Amino acid sequence: MELIDGNLIAAAIIAELKAEVAALPGRKPCIALVRVGDDPASVSYVKKKEKTAAEIGIAGRIHLPPVTITQAELFALIDQLNADPGVDGILVQSPLPKHIDEVAVFRRVSDKKDVDGFNTLNLGKVAQEDETGFVACTPAGIMALLARSGIDLKGKHVVVIGRSLIVGKPVALLALQKKAGANGTVTICHSGTSNLPAITRQADVLIAAIGRAEFVTADMVKPGAVVIDVGINRVPDATKKTGYRLTGDVEFTGVSAIAGKITPVPGGVGPMTVAMLMSNTVKAFRQNRSA
Ligand code: NDP
Repeated sequence: MELIDGNLIAAAIIAELKAEVAALPGRKPCIALVRVGDDPASVSYVKKKEKTAAEIGIAGRIHLPPVTITQAELFALIDQLNADPGVDGILVQSPLPKHIDEVAVFRRVSDKKDVDGFNTLNLGKVAQEDETGFVACTPAGIMALLARSGIDLKGKHVVVIGRSLIVGKPVALLALQKKAGANGTVTICHSGTSNLPAITRQADVLIAAIGRAEFVTADMVKPGAVVIDVGINRVPDATKKTGYRLTGDVEFTGVSAIAGKITPVPGGVGPMTVAMLMSNTVKAFRQNRSA
């Protein structure tokens, strides 16, 4: 078994972006990070994004509206950032409080600054294989992990568990694209799928984006398969200072014993998501400047 090291691959991408940004004349790219309230996971994600942006030389503008913000007020903030020529990318950290319609917020972000890749136009561009769009960061990160690990999907059976708009559906569309590195034969599974293990056992590349701790067990995996674990789950653990440990959607010990290649959690897909956000921000800067 070979471990796919997301930390290492993300660090290489970040170093490339840093060199690219250093060579840019004039104003540097800028990302606006909007975090509503202080959900602990969101606090740590936004901190990580702010830190990585600074490391690359991307300016970070942090907006921290209270959890009581109304949808109209949040729209007004997004409109202001959309109109601001000094802002290249906008990220609204999810999850948002229940009283806010998250998809409406994603749609409100200008498609030209949608570095999260969640608005309708950018999701559509993935389906159309239009490379001017922004690909959602986690799916883009998974594809980059595969490419930089020398895994070509052509002729492979790719099974995705999960059909969310932020991971499952877009990664399935990317794996399906008729282009180098992709060209996979793709099956998407979800909670309505019958006999899931019989399908996952056919996968040459298995992508688990379920949100259930250690759901994928060794009996669901074909020996030698590539296993990409997208899940980030907090499991209570009294031996940890935090009171919990992070684990993926894959039961790592059993599955790693039979997989050909596997991503760990943490240190697999997670760091790639942040790296791709930065890559999208530099792309937004270039595209918006040349528009
Ligand atoms: P969602 O909850 O939006 O989607 C989960 C998907 O899994 C749904 O399509 C659901 O099916 C499917 N599912 C749930 N239970 C089963 C089951 N028993 N059998 C088969 N399919 C099932 O989650 P996300 O896609 O947003 O996230 C998935 C995981 O990835 C989470 O752990 C999340 O924390 C993590 N994540 C990690 C990121 C990273 O940077 N590494 C970024 C984003 C997410 P149905 O549609 O039928 O309900």
